[in-house]
Amino acid sequence: MFEDRALLARLWREEIDRFRDTHRESERLWREASAHMPDGVPMLWMAKWPGPWPVFVERADGAHFRSVDGIDHIDLCLGDTGAMVGHAPAAAVAAITEQLQRGSTFMLPTVDASAAAALLAGRFGLPSWQFTLSATDANRALLRYARQVTGRRKVLVIDYCYHGSVDEAFATLAEDGAVVPRRGNIGPPVPLAETTVVVPFNDVPALEAALATGEVAVVLAEPAMTNIGIVLPQPGWHDAVRAACDRTGTVLILDETHTLCAGPGGMVARDGLRPDAVVVGKTIAGGIPAGAYGMTAEFAERARTSLELEDIDVGGVGGTLAGNAVSLAGIRATLSEVLTADAYPAMIERAAEWTAGVQSAIDRHGAPWQVTQLGARAEYSFLPRPPRDGREAAEADDFELQQYLHLHALNRGILLTPFHNMALMSPATTAADVAAHTAAFGEAVASLYA
Ligand code: PMP
Repeated sequence: MFEDRALLARLWREEIDRFRDTHRESERLWREASAHMPDGVPMLWMAKWPGPWPVFVERADGAHFRSVDGIDHIDLCLGDTGAMVGHAPAAAVAAITEQLQRGSTFMLPTVDASAAAALLAGRFGLPSWQFTLSATDANRALLRYARQVTGRRKVLVIDYCYHGSVDEAFATLAEDGAVVPRRGNIGPPVPLAETTVVVPFNDVPALEAALATGEVAVVLAEPAMTNIGIVLPQPGWHDAVRAACDRTGTVLILDETHTLCAGPGGMVARDGLRPDAVVVGKTIAGGIPAGAYGMTAEFAERARTSLELEDIDVGGVGGTLAGNAVSLAGIRATLSEVLTADAYPAMIERAAEWTAGVQSAIDRHGAPWQVTQLGARAEYSFLPRPPRDGREAAEADDFELQQYLHLHALNRGILLTPFHNMALMSPATTAADVAAHTAAFGEAVASLYA
């Protein structure tokens, strides 16, 4: 915990004043928008940006966007991975536009669907794919299939995970080990302990004990945690998870929505992981809505044969616009022309530069913080050493300190991912973009620890 709260409060007020002075047009639009949208935003989490109102975007290109206030920003948030490919990538925009002109949604497959599925199969080594409009929906579908084929009820998730708005995943462990809803969980449909088992990340004995009960249908996990800061897997964790799932007949889903930053086939391909199913989403269609899940031949067959054709439209897995022609055109173009294997080395190199820059500022000023890199993404946390699980990461959270650092960056034309201290590199992010962040971050740390 940063101790000098009076200093932090003074610095925060200075940044708020600076923001107010320089974001008048955003303020005007936000006041107008507030007439018909709670907090003036189209989705409630957009109210959580630091500052009195959100910045309104005018246009974006590559790793930059321009606000209606006439300010150019280096975008290290990139739509929290939705725009990891960079804003408006030309090849994806061309394919999407072209498909839009030929019709967008038919409830029938197009040739792009099989091409997109084949591209994903090649990357992740899983042969069988389905498409949704979001990663959330892909997760929801797989949880249903896993319960269906195993005949078991419970979902195992990692403490402090995030997998989208998936009811079963909003669970955490109380001090006494009970499964309880996470703070802020809006209207849970049933008590979380009825649907969910929770274990800490990297805790093999807890995972093995939970699966040994035989009540768990499915393990849903990210290969590395990315939504409570970055928490990397300890050596042996993934092998132990796979072995425990094999022993107990439990389905293993790895959610690669964020960890696609690690390489063209995510951590699954990079590290040779062997899930029964994989989830991807966000950026795969170049910035328009799309999600997908891939399955082993065996899991896909079990899921398919458990269903009657007659019931397939109302079985709980669906979405009228899922698999629409525009999303599929976007996926095909993005995977084959934008987010290619060749794009990754530079993205990862930029993240390494960002990590080195941030760590050197931390060290120079003696802040008890650390940075963790995962492929094209990196994140600092207010801990002297990398966290081992979600709880350790969560306990290091300091909301006011984080808000100050984010607003300080925003006032210097740099957008960080809200809700945590993450930076993401696109193929268009340059070394100069990273250097600008390093300089601004150094100033911010100096203001706190001078
Ligand atoms: N999985 C993970 C790991 C995520 O981080 C998120 C969103 N942050 C999702 C799934 C859900 O993505 P979406 O909100 O696009 O459905």
